[in-house]
Amino acid sequence: MKYLPLVRYLILSDIHANWHALEAVLADAAGQFDSILCLGDFVGYGAAPNEVVNWAREKVAWNIRGNHDRVACGLSSLEWFNDYAQAAAIWTTENLTAENRLWLRGLPRGPFPLENFALIHGAPLDEDEYLTSAAAARDALDYLEPALGFFGHTHVQGGFALRRHRVQTISRVATSATSTVFEWDPETRCLINPGSVGQPRDQDPRAAYAFYESGANWVEYRRVEYDVAGAQSDILAAGLPPLLANRLALGR
Ligand code: ZN
Repeated sequence: MKYLPLVRYLILSDIHANWHALEAVLADAAGQFDSILCLGDFVGYGAAPNEVVNWAREKVAWNIRGNHDRVACGLSSLEWFNDYAQAAAIWTTENLTAENRLWLRGLPRGPFPLENFALIHGAPLDEDEYLTSAAAARDALDYLEPALGFFGHTHVQGGFALRRHRVQTISRVATSATSTVFEWDPETRCLINPGSVGQPRDQDPRAAYAFYESGANWVEYRRVEYDVAGAQSDILAAGLPPLLANRLALGR
């Protein structure tokens, strides 16, 4: 019999240069994973782009790019961004080191296949598409190959599962809890969103992430509190738009 080692993955997305949130996630997850996967948007919005990219370059096994990474390294124009995202993108480009800009430039585009799943930033066919509803997810689930994908971009923990032509919306961790497990049967196709580490938008300001184990039919979603005030004062001290600091406390 061939021995296939199980790998326990720590899955992160949308860190958005929030070092305080990343630090809390890594402390919370310590000792519980073998390998780290990131679904893009390392930078943009937050005040610590170099700290986050330096960490990712050293510690993350598999990365894909997000739309903010593309803009920060000059691969995409920022004309589609709103005013505060533009201001943050300009600040990020100016503050990233040349090596870190180059590293962002070299990030692969999703979907990126690995084992029995794929890493996706937005949607399987369009890295910039927001899968925010069951209706929007249906098309993506119909064509999802392999049958399991991890995605980000919406900053909403949970995702969607398709079974017997019905799409189910997966709930995030309840605000009264720190962990929840979602399990599926072999006929189900799943798009799993670990949530955003650095700028959650699902009405829960806690940093979000997930664990997955090779070949498993379940995912564990997690939430952890972090030093929101610290991230906010760094954003204000950097001269970034105050709205980007305020929204962290609200989780939207
Ligand atoms: Zn993002």
